[in-house]
Amino acid sequence: MLIDAAMTYRVAIVGAGPSGFYAADGLLRERPDLRIDLIDRLPTPFGLVRAGVAPDHQGTKAVIRQFERLLVQPDVRFAGNVEIGRDVSWEELQQDYDAVIVATGMVIDKKLGVPGEELPFVWGSWRLVAWLNGHPDFREGPDLSQVRRVAVIGNGNVALDVARVLAKSADEMAKSDIVPEAGAAIAAAPLTDITIIGRRGPEQASFTNNELAEMGRLARAVALVDPAALKVEAPKGDPTPERLRKAKNLEILRGFAGNQPGSKPLALRFVFNTPVKAIKPGDYDLVITCIGYTGEPYPKGEGVFAVGWAKRGPSGTIPTNRGESHAVAEQVLAWLKDRDLKSGPDPMPLSVDAAGWHRIDKAEIAAGAKQGRPRVKLTDWKALLEVAQGD
Ligand code: NAP
Repeated sequence: MLIDAAMTYRVAIVGAGPSGFYAADGLLRERPDLRIDLIDRLPTPFGLVRAGVAPDHQGTKAVIRQFERLLVQPDVRFAGNVEIGRDVSWEELQQDYDAVIVATGMVIDKKLGVPGEELPFVWGSWRLVAWLNGHPDFREGPDLSQVRRVAVIGNGNVALDVARVLAKSADEMAKSDIVPEAGAAIAAAPLTDITIIGRRGPEQASFTNNELAEMGRLARAVALVDPAALKVEAPKGDPTPERLRKAKNLEILRGFAGNQPGSKPLALRFVFNTPVKAIKPGDYDLVITCIGYTGEPYPKGEGVFAVGWAKRGPSGTIPTNRGESHAVAEQVLAWLKDRDLKSGPDPMPLSVDAAGWHRIDKAEIAAGAKQGRPRVKLTDWKALLEVAQGD
């Protein structure tokens, strides 16, 4: 049917993280007249960029500038502090919106499934990184005051993020937006050893080259690896980009193999071919599992489209989502093309809108400026809501 200017489709995007914003971007490129609600249970947008990207990787976090441009579009609304199941149901969204895009990501730490995993010194990477990043549901960090030896399980970029943030000096973190309590706890911890443990060989690690190379440039930590573990080649059967990435990783690791143990106060060891069968007290003071994530279920069916990690699982960097979310946006537009418009009342309870988020943003940036940091985050739900709802 033909749509007149005053009447247009309403699309709900559940999850205001990168894949949700890229989906909004894809929709608006073709149909700038659409009305889009970006819904999030937090009063702050940007999902993984705010809560998951390591606080010292400010370059990666700069992508929020692109997303901010969408938030100021007249027909894009941020609906923060709206929880599906509490404030609105999936059924209501499906009933009231012309299409629903699920961009809820994956925020539950996968389990190793080994004895000892429930011990209090074992932390999942989501829980740890959310703490470092000031997520209001994760305000408690591990007690680092006696932590000397840390095991980081997994051979992906999250393992590198975790090891690097623990290994960096306070000076190296000075321009980050790590929450001050976490930064102070790391700086005061008596750390001597961080061991990154892979269940497979170095030729299978999923580290990306730049992130791995960064581990060789840390002020107070020396990267170490047993050269005997590096007598391997990148798998010949892999597609060329994968083979090149793995070959470069091996070259970087061979560089680390020449480093002198003891040349810096902290040893950052890479250990390969070591599946963890059990976790016992005594081996390490803190164990961080960085082995991937799972997500909450969501309804599948007519008019519901998933993007990002909710669709394909926890893989790929933030820019990976751009093309993928744009492709899903095309599918949404094709699906909407011949639909009758739904014309009910505005279904969205608005608690924290874009103006509310901008009040939080302003307060955080002002607090950061006093310390020469990009921002100091508000981490308390009550404070976040008070600032958002202030005038
Ligand atoms: P990942 O790259 O898939 O790595 C997960 C690691 O966990 C793999 O080494 C995997 O080993 C290991 N693992 C899984 N189950 C295990 C088990 N039961 N026991 C031992 N090890 C196990 O995932 P990620 O590190 O969580 O990162 C998620 C995505 O975000 C990735 O695409 C990553 O590149 C991206 N990311 C990017 C950046 C960046 O660009 N700076 C930073 C962080 C994350 P196997 O290979 O043997 O399965």
